[in-house]
Amino acid sequence: MRLLETTQSLQQWRTESGMSTGVLGFVPTMGALHQGHISLLKKAKEQCAGVLVSIFINPTQFNNPDDLKKYPRILEKDLQLLENHDCDAVFVPSESAIYPTGLNVSQWDFGLLSNSLEAHYRPKHFDGVLTVVKRLFELVQPQLAFFGEKDFQQLCLIRAMTEFERLPVKIISCPTMREADGLAMSSRNLRLSAEERKVAGRISQVLGWAVSQKERIPPRELAGSALGLLSQTRGLRPEYFEIVDSETFEPLLAWDSSSPIALAAAYVGSVRLIDNMWL
Ligand code: AMP
Repeated sequence: MRLLETTQSLQQWRTESGMSTGVLGFVPTMGALHQGHISLLKKAKEQCAGVLVSIFINPTQFNNPDDLKKYPRILEKDLQLLENHDCDAVFVPSESAIYPTGLNVSQWDFGLLSNSLEAHYRPKHFDGVLTVVKRLFELVQPQLAFFGEKDFQQLCLIRAMTEFERLPVKIISCPTMREADGLAMSSRNLRLSAEERKVAGRISQVLGWAVSQKERIPPRELAGSALGLLSQTRGLRPEYFEIVDSETFEPLLAWDSSSPIALAAAYVGSVRLIDNMWL
């Protein structure tokens, strides 16, 4: 596996390895890798001649400075895991390689997609995400890029931005990988204490309960009850539980959407977790 730390070495690798002509798959990450990330790498390997994973903790997408400071950093372990899974190259750029003119972010507006749920609770977060993804696409120039449904709103926004900017890359979505108790795998799970880790499993349980109640209870009422269940859980502080149409992000008023999805965000201690499930 090649370790690429500069944009020059990245371009050289693309030319030398034939990646400027073959299908290059790209998996952007912020490191602290787990089996969720590895599932993206595996899917990319099935579909591409070569796969590049990037590890870059993007400062502009953290609306909370404490979250940025405490974000897990375990680069050596990450590199070993990628090597063990036959990753072809890993790009670990410096901040100045990604932001050569300072931490400037672009702005996009895709209506509800840009303004609701995560965007509401994490102002400017998605502008940071889309800015870094666009920059990485320009540098890496992949044909296919792989993103997890775990960050569903992010996935939809990346699709929208890629289309709007007419970037020549196809976005491939990958299902959420979960721990045995249902907790969605996340780098932030590393920050949970043993007690908090137990509590965190409740988020996916309540999402699963909502799935089981589909069409028995009107969507608004169901979302309200699910939020209530999360609120009643000791150690959990939910921010939202919403049932929306997965295309428009309009909250569902009746079961008339062909692709409804439930999305939730909650704090467990000081760790903010998100999850979602198709209904
Ligand atoms: P992150 O390192 O958290 O920025 O995530 C990098 C990529 O991995 C994003 O496309 C995420 O959606 C995806 N990802 C994170 N957690 C999971 C998971 N549990 N299952 C599948 N994909 C995931």
